Amino acid sequence: MNLSPREVFDVVVIGGGHAGCEAAAAAARLGAHTALVTQNRAKIGEMSCNPAIGGLGKGQLVREIDALDGLMGRVADAAGIQFRVLNRSKGPAVRGPRAQADRKLYRAAMQAALDETENLTIVEAEVEDLLTDAGVMQGVVTERGALRAPAVVIATGTFLGGVIHIGDERTPAGRMGDAPSNALSRRLREAGFAVARLKTGTPPRLEGRSIRWETLEEQWGDPTPEPFSYLTQAIATRQIACGVTRTTPAAHKIILDDLHRSPLRTGAISGPGPRYCPSIEDKVTRFADRDAHQIFLEPEGLDDDTVYPNGISTSLPLATQQAFINAIPGLETARILRPGYAIEYDYVDPRELLATLETKRIRGLFFAGQINGTTGYEEAAAQGILAGLNAARHAAGSGAIVFDRAEAYLGVMVDDLVTRGVSEPYRMFTSRAEYRLSLRADNADARLTPRGIEIGCVGGRRAAHYAARAAALGAARTMSQTRELTSSSALRHGLPVNQDGLRRSAYALLSFPDISLARLASIWPEFGGIDPDTAERLETEARYAVYLDRQQADIDAYRRDERLALPEGLDYSSIAGLSAELRGKLSYLRPRTISQAQRIDGMTPSALTLLAARARRA
Ligand code: FAD
Repeated sequence: MNLSPREVFDVVVIGGGHAGCEAAAAAARLGAHTALVTQNRAKIGEMSCNPAIGGLGKGQLVREIDALDGLMGRVADAAGIQFRVLNRSKGPAVRGPRAQADRKLYRAAMQAALDETENLTIVEAEVEDLLTDAGVMQGVVTERGALRAPAVVIATGTFLGGVIHIGDERTPAGRMGDAPSNALSRRLREAGFAVARLKTGTPPRLEGRSIRWETLEEQWGDPTPEPFSYLTQAIATRQIACGVTRTTPAAHKIILDDLHRSPLRTGAISGPGPRYCPSIEDKVTRFADRDAHQIFLEPEGLDDDTVYPNGISTSLPLATQQAFINAIPGLETARILRPGYAIEYDYVDPRELLATLETKRIRGLFFAGQINGTTGYEEAAAQGILAGLNAARHAAGSGAIVFDRAEAYLGVMVDDLVTRGVSEPYRMFTSRAEYRLSLRADNADARLTPRGIEIGCVGGRRAAHYAARAAALGAARTMSQTRELTSSSALRHGLPVNQDGLRRSAYALLSFPDISLARLASIWPEFGGIDPDTAERLETEARYAVYLDRQQADIDAYRRDERLALPEGLDYSSIAGLSAELRGKLSYLRPRTISQAQRIDGMTPSALTLLAARARRA
């Protein structure tokens, strides 16, 4: 577009990464006149690091985004070239759908999805300044002019003050090949935001034809790829295998000999990196007793000869990278197309945010994605959808939206961020969710689509699809609850139940580990007519019914505390009996509820009693 200097929008989103795309699309779905401003239009939807979406905890986030009619699930389905449900042999609560993606297809599908979004204008420019008036957002300034808006979402990823390190070379960059965003970073510091440094890294990219694939173990995805999106009927993209290899003692020796040239060791990088996604330098030093580390060789696309060696992110000098790569089986002749590198960047302490992702410092300013100290596409995208919805609501003068810890991983993540802050890049894990039996990848639509319909961000097609899916499960549930057997007749049918004379419904029988719906169909043939998706959901629900009932009691208690709201402008210095440390933390964090206050580090039972008394009086 030709930017008019007086362009006026409801919402401006800065950044065309994973957070920015979801934020812009979500705001536009709510009817807000939205601008997505990004430095390079062709790079919208770029995967800066690994070509994969989903995984443990992350797959749940993708399903939640999809349940709210977000883009990531559908885009990953269009671009996925190897789908696997991780932890399939374990319980449904910890399963995580994951797909390797073709980078080009992913970008193209994301750009097409944004092009089709009504109310959305894409502006190719760099935001250099924020326009505010008395702590209230007014718009942004780009090198091409100003864009006015009462709500702005910053989703600038690793670009704020970004510096790339390869050995002792330092290059200012937002990621390889892209300039950093320094003016905006300065502006945030000047506005008083608590800005600090984090780092992350990426492996070198290899030339596919230089790899000796014939010597390597192959890994294929699931025989029937399971889509992320509830709206995708089947995966149409060709599926491919990846290769598996392992590092060797010889490779470790090359790395150890050159450790003093790693910017992590020379002190050139000060910010902490993701502990659970360590560089190969970290792995060989922290796990010195292991003589091999697994590497997945993931092709970056169907017509792309670039290979991503998953598991060996590094910032050693290029010559050292080449030497250790060639000491790995199958990679003896592998050529590096692009070196691995570490990137250090600014993030803002997420305790600067409300649970809506609006900043406490500037009304109408929202942050989403890596800027909040998280790492990962899925974490970014999930925050993007929340920030986009709230930015649109703010612009329209309607109420804010918050997801709680019992309804979504998104709620868990945002609550963790705004209550506890981060000391290293935050990544989602199933272990972060206390109600994970309820927060499964298979039931994200049941948890969130009705809420999305109420909010107004879910379109007609998804609403109709959800209604049909919910009705199918409801009918199957009723059917299974109204077919019964005594214990003796169950035994006659070969079902292993206690001979206690009790009558059990088919629903109750499904809670036994060895009893499936297919088995019950030999007794009640009508079960054979239930479609496989509904059958699987019914089995999961019935199997966990007892535990889910117990968990519901915990959720009810948590929600009682969530309803105990603390007054917005509460003066904590006026509450006698609170320690100076807690007063400081409470004044900075300004918890919304007793439940949130409870999760603040250092909170004590006696302080909570004082706060609860104040909340009840409000
Ligand atoms: P990004 O995807 O970074 O997008 C930021 C967007 O903002 C870009 O479109 C950029 O052009 C735009 N932008 C920036 N400044 C401006 C401005 N002033 N004006 C206009 N537009 C602007 N994640 C993992 O989970 N595991 C990993 O191992 C991992 N390793 C990584 C290694 C590297 C080297 C990098 C760079 C990233 C890595 N990541 C990793 C992180 C992952 O890429 C991010 O978590 C994710 O991309 C964050 O999404 P985002 O939307 O917040 O930002």
